[in-house]
Amino acid sequence: MKILVIGGGMAGLTYAIVAAKNGYDVTVAERNPRLGKKISMTGNGKCNIGNANVNASCYNKSAIVSNVLNKISVDEYVKFLYSCGIVIYADNEGRMYPLSDSANGVVDCLREQLEKYGGKTVCGVEASNCRKVGDRYEVRIGGGKYIFDKVVLACGSRSQSLDVNPYTVVSQNMFTPLVPSLTPVKVFNMDGVLNGIRVKADVTLLDGALTLGKQSGEVLFKDYGLSGICIFNLSSIIARKQVQRKNGNYIFSVDLVPSMSQWDLGELLYTRIKAGYERSKLFYGILHNKVAEIVLKRAGGDVSDVSKLSETAKNLQFEFYKLLDYSMSQVTSGGIDDRYIDTDTLSLPDGIVALGEVLNVDGICGGNNLYFAAASALYTFSETERATAYKKL
Ligand SMILES: Cc1cc2nc3c(=O)[nH]c(=O)nc-3n(C[C@H](O)[C@H](O)[C@H](O)COP(=O)(O)OP(=O)(O)OC[C@H]3O[C@@H](n4cnc5c(N)ncnc54)[C@H](O)[C@@H]3O)c2cc1C
Repeated sequence: MKILVIGGGMAGLTYAIVAAKNGYDVTVAERNPRLGKKISMTGNGKCNIGNANVNASCYNKSAIVSNVLNKISVDEYVKFLYSCGIVIYADNEGRMYPLSDSANGVVDCLREQLEKYGGKTVCGVEASNCRKVGDRYEVRIGGGKYIFDKVVLACGSRSQSLDVNPYTVVSQNMFTPLVPSLTPVKVFNMDGVLNGIRVKADVTLLDGALTLGKQSGEVLFKDYGLSGICIFNLSSIIARKQVQRKNGNYIFSVDLVPSMSQWDLGELLYTRIKAGYERSKLFYGILHNKVAEIVLKRAGGDVSDVSKLSETAKNLQFEFYKLLDYSMSQVTSGGIDDRYIDTDTLSLPDGIVALGEVLNVDGICGGNNLYFAAASALYTFSETERATAYKKL
């Protein structure tokens, strides 16, 4: 069987390697000059390749996710990676990395496996205009038209690949709206003086009085708004709503002193005022000086109002304006609508198989997106085919 895989990212390479190890005639068409460009960018160059604690709550609601996770366990994924020469360790939060800590090294391993088992690659060419002719498919690749028995679409998304056009193979009508996710957010009421400061905080995303999500971790203040992993994760909640064409009055509430209750913080500030602390020194040792300046400004002029000061430090509010665009986002919310996908085979009505980020599946940070890209590819093979692939090193 002659198979064409469109896209040489994590999903496409995983599919092609398992197919090649099972003796299929497989070709990967990649529009970039080299395979795995996005893999090379992941995890700040270290490649956070999966997560030992992966579960359906790490993703948007999708029947595809539950099916894939039920069939392809983390252990099985690790087995696949091992068979490709990628040995894994997990940090204390379950984030999995290659022992080499090298995303480029992961691409080397995958490319090497594909070549070793006879998988072919054509790079620097775009595949488009896929058309079913009888039982086969005609696809335009670069300047020519070619015939394949099977086509696998693993073309990913526009996140940090701005000129990818996911509609060249599958009609736009089959897609939900696409929205950049895992991205910084612009806010209306940023205090420019905070630009560049990082704090450890608890951040709650509100829509009016409704709590939509909560994350703990580092927040990076930018002149336009907020960044950092916990902001990225909360951005996915907004992005998924936008995919459903829902908007809201979103507020990011930042608790700058998560280790103290509001009451205890108020008591401490009260003690300091009694001890004669100057206004500008009230938050010494608790907050970065510039952050303290903003808390004092937003709490109003009355320094003796400790309950207002502690409330502001525990609930510094930023009004959401917009998600930053694809040039800053790590993943795209939305994709081929689940309605068009056969959840057992991940195929479209005309038989094209769709894998990875081009599907309407997106996960939060921590290795969940690479995991899904690879697991969705493994999912489409039989148990015997997968076992055959894992035995070959
Ligand atoms: C900066 C950054 C950091 C990230 N860090 C992490 C991380 O640490 N952990 C994690 O789990 N996820 C991370 N992600 C997300 C993760 O990289 C993606 O979700 C994942 O790579 C998607 O894999 P994919 O194979 O579905 O798509 P992609 O990796 O996007 O691959 C699709 C490929 O198809 C090619 N293509 C598209 N259209 C065509 C066409 N018509 N013809 C030929 N080729 C085509 C593209 O050039 C691309 O190479 C990060 C993303 C970014 C941008």
